[in-house]
Amino acid sequence: MRSTMMQTPLLISRILQHGSTVHGDSEVATWTGEGARRTSYAEIGRQAARLANALRDDLGVTGDQRVGTLMWNNAEHLVAYLAVPSMGAVLHTLNLRLFPEQLIYIANHAEDHVVVVDSTLIPLLAGVLPHLTTIRHIVVVGGGDTEKLQKDGVAVHRWDELLDGRPETFDWPAVDEDDAAALCYTSGTTGNPKGVAYSHRSIYLHSMEVCMAESFGLGPQVRDLCIVPMFHAMAWGLPYAAMMSGASLVMPDRFLQAAPLAQMIAVEKPTFAGAVPTIFTDLLGYLDANPTDTSSLKEVVIGGSACPPALMHAFKDRYDIEVIHAWGMTEMSPLGSVSRSPYGVEGPEAWAYRYTQGRVPAGVEARIVGPVGEVMPNDGKAVGELQVRGPWITAQYIGEDGPDPDKFEDGWLRTGDVGTLTPNGYLTLTDRAKDVIKSGGEWISSVDLENALMAHPAVLEACVVGVPDDKWGERPLATVVLREGATADAETLREFLGDKVARWQLPERWSFIESVPKTSVGKFDKKRVRASYADGGLE
Ligand code: ADP
Repeated sequence: MRSTMMQTPLLISRILQHGSTVHGDSEVATWTGEGARRTSYAEIGRQAARLANALRDDLGVTGDQRVGTLMWNNAEHLVAYLAVPSMGAVLHTLNLRLFPEQLIYIANHAEDHVVVVDSTLIPLLAGVLPHLTTIRHIVVVGGGDTEKLQKDGVAVHRWDELLDGRPETFDWPAVDEDDAAALCYTSGTTGNPKGVAYSHRSIYLHSMEVCMAESFGLGPQVRDLCIVPMFHAMAWGLPYAAMMSGASLVMPDRFLQAAPLAQMIAVEKPTFAGAVPTIFTDLLGYLDANPTDTSSLKEVVIGGSACPPALMHAFKDRYDIEVIHAWGMTEMSPLGSVSRSPYGVEGPEAWAYRYTQGRVPAGVEARIVGPVGEVMPNDGKAVGELQVRGPWITAQYIGEDGPDPDKFEDGWLRTGDVGTLTPNGYLTLTDRAKDVIKSGGEWISSVDLENALMAHPAVLEACVVGVPDDKWGERPLATVVLREGATADAETLREFLGDKVARWQLPERWSFIESVPKTSVGKFDKKRVRASYADGGLE
């Protein structure tokens, strides 16, 4: 029997129409360095219609042409997020921290026709522009000299002039819900970045998941300080979910250092925030040294790489802020799991759950697979590769003939992450497969060593990698950044680890460094740490 239900496509334009009317009073505050400029969701809706009219009528954007954005988190970026897919075109968020060659690669690979750029990023765009083969239009947001953007066949427009006087409505087309709405490329720590194309349907379903209480619990009561960049995995789906649920947004623009973030918290009073661990490590250090009113902030989601338990406790004990650990991947839109303890569980048992990467939602099916492809039990003990599938998980990469067998298997995405699943669905990741240290036939989790080290009061950051060893194949190298004014040597730290990890796992190689190199999205760059060791740059 077929259902009697309507076949209504799940479209971004629906999120836009709903958010800009029902939640028309919700706010986007964009930080300017001193204060915030403000706009409402109703105005965002009008701006989106204006932009769509201009893109179609002036820039000739048709069909599924790609519109790139080279932008910080701000109101204009949100307008582009909504307008471009809603008109049937495809949004491509360009990661402004990629190496120039990678930026050129992804813009050409995606065949970007238009780029919307923040004026502060004109020098970056100007540097790569000669190599961009498909760009025909550049739209500059904000003032600033556009002379450097001269190129034959490329027209330069100003955002304000382009939108001025345009109609405030647009007849949003009824596109197919499975058509591409937005593209995102992984940050390409190995080889060229690989792109995924999210559909209207996948973004709609993912947004609903982000709003759920078990996930980020968005709604009109939430004021989200959206630190995670809109060019990194769609800012974890927060902009669309906010528009869908009426949560207000505080956008940091380019002010991502701890001091302005702390000021934004004090002044704009967000209730919620999300970012990678390194951002919150810096913020914690700043707050400890510079008392700031953080009383509005109730929950922060930390993900993108493993969140050290010590960081979770520090925020709770010192600022009464709950840290929610979450895991995801660009390939997964990106939300995979969120760690809230089971209902009714409290105290140390609740914390043990919260240290894990969390529970997968109904939209994500997960399994652990062993070395010869066998599916392993969800008993919280069997360790293997995590594989996932679901309606907001990519089935292959853009431009490839089919699913690459290294990354996909029988309709499942091979995450490259290694860990366990419990019978009640909690996922614990021990490492990325490529970062696990293989010592004499045994595996050492680099993340376990890092978490244990970062619990030492003198340690600000610890990044552990496997380095070649004649006897054991690989051994851990611990690179450590000490807190300002703190002292600790290798012997002290080895002793500290003594009752936390097995003796044979204790690193013999130590390097005290000024800062851990970070990837374009702020994660520890283990590839670079290994390379500096190989070059003799680390002892
Ligand atoms: P990139 O590969 O460029 O860093 P992604 O943001 O897509 O881009 O990275 C996804 C990967 O990040 C995951 O496969 C996993 O290895 C890691 N990751 C994300 N969140 C967590 C987490 N909470 N704990 C451990 N690892 C995480």
